[in-house]
Amino acid sequence: MGNQVDKVLVNPHLGGVAAEPAKRDLWDNVLIMLDDVARRLELDPGIHAILCQPERELTVAVPVMMDDGRLRVFTGHRIQHSSARGPCKGGIRYHPDVDLNEVKALAALMTWKCAVVDIPYGGAKGGVQCDPRQMSEDELCRMTRRFTAMILPIIGSKRDIPAPDVNTNAQTMAWIADTVSRLRGETTMDIVTGKPIPLGGSLGRKEATGRGVAIITRELLKRKGRRLSGTTVAVQGYGNVGSAAATILHQMGCKIVAVSDISGGLYNSQGLDVVSLNHHVASHPYRLIEGYEAPGVGEISNDELLIYDVDVLVPAALEHQIRADNAPYVQAKMIVEAANGPTTPEADEILKDRNITLVPDILANAGGVVVSYFEWVQDLQYFFWEEDEVNRNLERVMVRSFDKVWSFSQEREVPLRLGAYMLAVDKVANAMRLRGVFP
Ligand code: NAD
Repeated sequence: MGNQVDKVLVNPHLGGVAAEPAKRDLWDNVLIMLDDVARRLELDPGIHAILCQPERELTVAVPVMMDDGRLRVFTGHRIQHSSARGPCKGGIRYHPDVDLNEVKALAALMTWKCAVVDIPYGGAKGGVQCDPRQMSEDELCRMTRRFTAMILPIIGSKRDIPAPDVNTNAQTMAWIADTVSRLRGETTMDIVTGKPIPLGGSLGRKEATGRGVAIITRELLKRKGRRLSGTTVAVQGYGNVGSAAATILHQMGCKIVAVSDISGGLYNSQGLDVVSLNHHVASHPYRLIEGYEAPGVGEISNDELLIYDVDVLVPAALEHQIRADNAPYVQAKMIVEAANGPTTPEADEILKDRNITLVPDILANAGGVVVSYFEWVQDLQYFFWEEDEVNRNLERVMVRSFDKVWSFSQEREVPLRLGAYMLAVDKVANAMRLRGVFP
């Protein structure tokens, strides 16, 4: 990726200031990576140009009556990057930092992710710029229902199927499915995945992303000739994905020595008691690790956690956490990206030069969308699987995908991220070639 900055200047979809690393956003990074991959694959310039823009962008103004009687208007987006390989698929995020370019980038990552694990979906993402921690349950419900009504023209079980992401969960999906069902006058549960089990959700979906991260970590350790037992792990972000990854890695024999969330971090070099930590988080009003106390446990900042001396670092919070300023100090030997886009391209280069092996987001955190796919299949058939069947199929898909990316990257002598992207972009491009351009 040595010539990336030069490439930035020639990509017409990047802003004029985008060549300055400090001013780049996640969408710029997605385009930089796509340029590099296109060059290596000798991608048809027309297909490259199509992939440089989302197929469809919808921005909506969402009026919400707040509990105090005031009306507030939130900005929301639903972006469909590509439907070449199937209906678009991707989560909905509620966060103060949500903006159009972030959602565009996350939609493109979904396109690559679905391709890399070979499930028949394209890529999409949604988000509403809001601070859910400052909102009541009723306000969130009203916002979700109105946002759903406003993006309804472009979503659908064969068009675009949302799912949970940061600060959204099974309850949010239930509100979306119910809103669509009421508006259409028919049960439409297959419009979202990540639903509660009684409403057509899949067993195993809640933990699926974290389980996938754990499976990938296990496979990576195998390739490195290392045992799970005693491997030390730090997890940044103890939400849905981070806590499930930590819990399953702990069950596999790893030592979880540091975790963090928005409230700060905790460490114990002898290993944290993940079970008692999970009990604490479950009883915290905002599901945070804040206030947890146990013998041998000390406090650590989020910045310190990222450079803590561990075998495996699992960033499971938000994007741009590992950057040029902290990458030189990362002590982990391996990084498994549970979050989307946690590493900047500059940090990627530094980590590569330092021989730190990194499994990219589009492979490492694909377990969620894989089980979302299983949920959709179950909903379409009105026939539901046992949890062990879900987990067995997830295991099969994750191991097969890891093997493909690992072998391809070894053959081409490229880092795993580049290998995964090359495989994914090639698959999407192939689908586009087979379809041809309409009309
Ligand atoms: P979540 O809201 O359940 O958890 C996010 C966690 O990150 C919380 O513990 C939060 O406190 C913490 N956090 C937020 N800002 C932080 C900061 N600045 N420093 C440290 N911690 C911080 O969200 P999630 O669903 O677990 O998603 C986490 C990441 O995984 C996101 O990047 C998301 O896009 C990605 N992801 C999620 C899924 C899924 O199925 N939920 C699937 C694939 C990828």
